[in-house]
Amino acid sequence: MHPRETVDRALRLSALGLIDRQVAELCGVSLGAVQKWRTGARRANEDEDRRRRRSCPRCHEQPLDETAYAYLLGLYLGDGHIVLCRKGVYQLSLSCGDNWPGLIAEAADVMAAVMPTSSVSRRRKNGCTEVKSHSKHWVCLFPQHGPGRKHLRKIALEDWQRKIVEMHPGRFARGLMHSDGYRGTNRVRRHFNGSDHWYEYPRYLFGNESKDILELCGEVLDLLGVEWRYSRYNTISVARRGAVERLDEFVGPKY
Ligand SMILES: [Zn+2]
Repeated sequence: MHPRETVDRALRLSALGLIDRQVAELCGVSLGAVQKWRTGARRANEDEDRRRRRSCPRCHEQPLDETAYAYLLGLYLGDGHIVLCRKGVYQLSLSCGDNWPGLIAEAADVMAAVMPTSSVSRRRKNGCTEVKSHSKHWVCLFPQHGPGRKHLRKIALEDWQRKIVEMHPGRFARGLMHSDGYRGTNRVRRHFNGSDHWYEYPRYLFGNESKDILELCGEVLDLLGVEWRYSRYNTISVARRGAVERLDEFVGPKY
């Protein structure tokens, strides 16, 4: 047995283009050992390549973590972007406010769970962190990708996505609310007995410019039995106490 450092050194020298005999001399090991390490390393790299190429839950029937996916789908529809960056490779990126480090971590976790063969990276921008991952297959998982802004094109779920949302409605609602939604305090004034009385209560708002995405949000709230209404043409509001309590089971404040 040779120490790991010797094996690594030999592989580095091979990668520099030295022939096996030179590597063997420099490392003080047998020619056979160098040959074995070099071919073994190549085979491991090829296996890794093959695994990466066959990584897609849609194209290669790889298992999909549906709980993670339902949440990621919500995040993507709310506030995510897919761009083609180099030949055939897409970047999925989510922008998360720095005030909510928990959400940044959760976004990175679900991205990694949905596409385990791609690494997830983070980049700080002013006030927010971009969480991103590259794969040829992000478009298979998010066929809603298309040119232009989401509210300017039709957004409809495919049957397989709809099934996942129906299986994990709370996770999907959580994703939507954690991207374009917010849970805050509403203050209202009531006038009686000759004076003003202020009341505060928690409520959820989900704002989006896409009518289709608002409808998807409404549908999943119906599935969860959460009462909602449009408070503006582009905003869904969940304000009744029972409805807020029900949604709290799945979403809760940003963190
Ligand atoms: Zn694919």
